[in-house]
Amino acid sequence: MTDDELKAIEERCEKATEGPWDVEAVSNACRVTIGKGSGKVILARACPPQLQEEETWSNVKFMAAARTDVPALIEEVKRLKAKVSALQEIIEKAQAIADRLGCSDAHGPENPMCDPCLLRAALAKLDGKEAK
Ligand SMILES: [Zn+2]
Repeated sequence: MTDDELKAIEERCEKATEGPWDVEAVSNACRVTIGKGSGKVILARACPPQLQEEETWSNVKFMAAARTDVPALIEEVKRLKAKVSALQEIIEKAQAIADRLGCSDAHGPENPMCDPCLLRAALAKLDGKEAK
């Protein structure tokens, strides 16, 4: 997901009425309450006979929970993106160190006795690349 896509999702969340949204079953309808006090909006949907009542209930609970779940997911994505970025910098620094350590043998990166080659292979795997 690009930063622009994440920002667009975040903007949609910020424009929506503040959460949490409440959902409850009222006779044969699902009722979602958006907002609080006199400004609250209530959406009610009767459960049509052609839909499973449980499926409709699950859909309504999903929509109401999205108001708090999506912002939480956005924050987690931001946290993980920052962590990946920091780890990428560490990987690049460690790769430079592994390259400076050199290797006296002309063996492949899978030699279990060569620390520089093992380090390069592990860093390449961590970086999603093949070892050089
Ligand atoms: Zn080596």
